[in-house]
Amino acid sequence: MHAHGRAIRTTQWIIVLVYVALMVLPLIAPLPDRHARILNHITLFAQFMFWGIWWPFVLLSMVLFGRIWCGVLCPEGALSEFVSRHGRGGAIPRWIRWGGWPFVAFAGTTIYGQLVSVYQYPGAVLVVLGGSTVAAMIVGYLYGRDKRVWCKYLCPVNGVFNLLSRLAPVHMKVDAAAYVASPRTQGVNCAPLVPLRHMVGASDCHVCGRCEGYRGAIALSPRSPTEEVVMFGGPGEQALSGQAHGGIHHNNSGWYSALIAFGMLGLAMGAFHWTASPWFVAAKIGAAQWLAEHDIAWMFRDDIPWFILTHYPDQNDVFNWLDGALILGYILATALVMGGAISLTIGAGSRLLGKGWTAARYHHLMQSLIPIGGCGLFIGLSASTVTLLRSEGLRMAWVPTTRMAMLAGATAWSCWLAWRISGRYAHSLFARVGALAGVVAALALVNYAWALMFWIW
Ligand code: SF4
Repeated sequence: MHAHGRAIRTTQWIIVLVYVALMVLPLIAPLPDRHARILNHITLFAQFMFWGIWWPFVLLSMVLFGRIWCGVLCPEGALSEFVSRHGRGGAIPRWIRWGGWPFVAFAGTTIYGQLVSVYQYPGAVLVVLGGSTVAAMIVGYLYGRDKRVWCKYLCPVNGVFNLLSRLAPVHMKVDAAAYVASPRTQGVNCAPLVPLRHMVGASDCHVCGRCEGYRGAIALSPRSPTEEVVMFGGPGEQALSGQAHGGIHHNNSGWYSALIAFGMLGLAMGAFHWTASPWFVAAKIGAAQWLAEHDIAWMFRDDIPWFILTHYPDQNDVFNWLDGALILGYILATALVMGGAISLTIGAGSRLLGKGWTAARYHHLMQSLIPIGGCGLFIGLSASTVTLLRSEGLRMAWVPTTRMAMLAGATAWSCWLAWRISGRYAHSLFARVGALAGVVAALALVNYAWALMFWIW
């Protein structure tokens, strides 16, 4: 990778051009009618590329190759770094380093995307993806020199990518002894600000390849896909990882646990569920009746700009305030129910692993749910891939079985991680089985939620 830096940079700029074209061209085309197809209408083509191919498979790539997407292909990262090279080069302010951004940015983007129907309309895509890109460039211009401050701290999917890449079977391995023993050479520009000598896992590294071979100590190396979660997710290692951020970033395991339980398995589940949920329909009918009986008419108004709530009268797709409130309420309620229940079961499991309550043990056991969280995001996002391909007339009879197999595989992977993590703490088989039971209860709930969406409703 180091030797092919030029080719990597060229690829990045080609992707930037494709990304901008897919965002801008649909804006000048009319919205698709029912005769439009992926291959003859730019809006449907862009929709298929962004939400049908791009997002699900970028997520998958995190698990297979680590964050190579971020370092080699992401247009937003490339633009942010490019602007940073010519920008003001200011110091990174404290608010940017706040540990809650991975959760808050993911939650905000997920909810807003649902309110403006980002999967369907080019204007919404421009606001969500284009807005994020412009923000990335502004942050790049203001802070850091030749760096990716946005990617490291503020990108809405940074937290999810960080978690998924912990499962990757490859990483940039640092040989600490060789690093110290080798003579100092000219430094490497690590754009996402990873302190090379202390790098212990794949979660912060964007696999850009620039440090490969540095001081004869860093190399892209294979590893067990359980290694980072089991070996580097524990209390001592979490502290080490906090230090490894160069003292500019405190240990934010709590926020990552929240991202798993309330974000990937909560908010995202609500965002995928509400369009298929009979509970949502029942709540809407009940709320509409109650509002009508109480003469609260303004909730039925739909003269709302499309960038606040979906508003496309020509497509018969218009949200009123009641729709907006119910979508928001449904997603938040799902997050609270799923996140609360998962936190309780994981908390109970981690309590059995040793005397007293320790947050570090809880955060470690929570990481066993990364595989099922990633799998859920993949099958949820790829549901739109399947819908688009079905409307093209493709037979997709294999999809339900494949979904089932993926959920079963991710469930087994999570159980295996939980078993290995429990082995680092438990002094008895009973404690280990108890901790595993807590994780299995959480997994049962998640699988039930997916069964509701794909097989029961
Ligand atoms: S640690 Fe190395 S490979 Fe990873 S992002 Fe930094 S320079 Fe690139």
